[in-house]
Amino acid sequence: MTELLKNFIGGQWVAGNGPGAVLRDPVLGTDLVRVSRDGIDVDTAFRFARNAGGAALRAMTYTERAAMLGEIAKVLQANRDAYYDIATANSGTVKNDSAVDIDGGIYTLGQYARWGAALGEQRALLDGTRAKLAKEGFASQHLMVPTRGVALFINAFNFPSWGLWEKAAPALLSGVPVIAKPATATAWLTQRMVADVVNAGVVPVGALSILCGSSSGLLDALQPFDVLSFTGSAETAATIRAHRAVAANSVRVNIEADSLNSALLLPGVTADAEAFSLLVKEVVREMTVKSGQKCTAIRRIFVPESLYDAAAEAISARLAKTTVGNPRNEAVRMGSLVSREQHQSVIEGITALGQAAQRLHDGSQHALVDCDPAIAACVGPTLFGTRDADTADVVHRMEVFGPVSTLLPYRDLDHAFTLARRGEGSLVASVYGDDNAALARAATELADSHGRVHVISPAIAAQNTGHGNVMPHSLHGGPGRAGGGEELGGLRALNFYHRRAAIQADGAVLDQIIAAPFAP
Ligand code: NAP
Repeated sequence: MTELLKNFIGGQWVAGNGPGAVLRDPVLGTDLVRVSRDGIDVDTAFRFARNAGGAALRAMTYTERAAMLGEIAKVLQANRDAYYDIATANSGTVKNDSAVDIDGGIYTLGQYARWGAALGEQRALLDGTRAKLAKEGFASQHLMVPTRGVALFINAFNFPSWGLWEKAAPALLSGVPVIAKPATATAWLTQRMVADVVNAGVVPVGALSILCGSSSGLLDALQPFDVLSFTGSAETAATIRAHRAVAANSVRVNIEADSLNSALLLPGVTADAEAFSLLVKEVVREMTVKSGQKCTAIRRIFVPESLYDAAAEAISARLAKTTVGNPRNEAVRMGSLVSREQHQSVIEGITALGQAAQRLHDGSQHALVDCDPAIAACVGPTLFGTRDADTADVVHRMEVFGPVSTLLPYRDLDHAFTLARRGEGSLVASVYGDDNAALARAATELADSHGRVHVISPAIAAQNTGHGNVMPHSLHGGPGRAGGGEELGGLRALNFYHRRAAIQADGAVLDQIIAAPFAP
């Protein structure tokens, strides 16, 4: 039998009961490790994190916690090679795609370490300025203090590293202990990273815990001051929102869910313009990085009617060059999906989109390199297209979580904006053009239905960070179907882990708070 990974909970490494769930190599189909949290007393574990981990973190200043994030990043940096091996084996990703997850996580930690260092030797944050409530000294000052609960993270399978650290960095910086529950299919990388950090002794005991395996009963342990951050499908998100403990205890919840993100080529651009080729390159990149298993990937491509054929041809020609298969083969550019279950789900999604749209580039034509198609979870990239963007409802509704996107023509800009909004709230839209005024108008129009608008003109062609790359500086999240959540965005991320209170007092008392925010 393969190794059973332990959970770190209650300040100890604990093995779950029973055989547990098996994690597999999605390319070779072999068993890798097992996870189980059966038999673990979750209530006691959560209490330990709240009490021991929370107290230790709150006893530190923001500067000290920022330095701790820097130490975590160093530990992860030192063990990077092992993480790449695990990603290849368990996620089936090529090196560049593993980097998005592994180095993306380390980079985000480093960024929060830098921002946190600037917060200073205080244990609470001031929010806004003082408002006078009387002619004399009585006034109001809002104060932000870390919540005295745990932050429970329930994460998706596509980012076992970044998905943990993009949440843990602001939580730990805020002084809130973390309990991570990674998606079972790829939990190995998350577990190894937490093990390295815990064993290096760079976080107080109870500040960082991990439970691998079933989510059953976890939410029941949530208390009023806990927070829950979920990333995954809209379906699971709906269950979580309606959970008894969440509703009864007013647990603060952040949801990052499905998203029908889009790329929009503005009118007035020709097929030989740079803006056109920038859109084509980015669409292909977004379809193929991590085999399209990115919540931010471009699922819908809007182009002026007159450029539909040219865009179909240019995107298909690039996709045809993508080599798909075993990530261990140097010739391979796109590895596999994370599991055979995801493979099945993507094949079903392709069939469903095929009812409403034409296959402009057929992924099934890609010969798989160095792997057995009956075992490997590899699929070639597929570009769909339909000239009737309005009636193809499924294209605006169904997120196929793989290397799949659909090309859609629009009549005029208002039509394009209406089509983008049919995603009912998305994480990101990117806009391509060479007229700054038109780009600015499009950005403002799309801002109400998107958490991020990525605006690309030839002037920033070489320096932009990419449609799908989530930078810690910018907000990650989106309204409506995208879950309505907000993550990252610099120090804004700390809001979720703090409680805001208005302090009404004599100005002399408020002076004391401002001069030296208290030790809780
Ligand atoms: P999922 O099935 O919803 O699973 C996500 C997480 O929830 C996993 O850890 C899963 O555990 C857990 N879970 C499942 N049922 C649960 C329940 N009843 N109560 C509590 N937790 C439960 O989603 P997925 O299929 O793994 O992830 C893919 C989806 O995530 C895609 O739709 C993608 O768009 C979305 N996603 C969004 C973002 C974003 O930032 N917006 C980022 C990445 C992915 P098990 O693995 O043990 O079942």
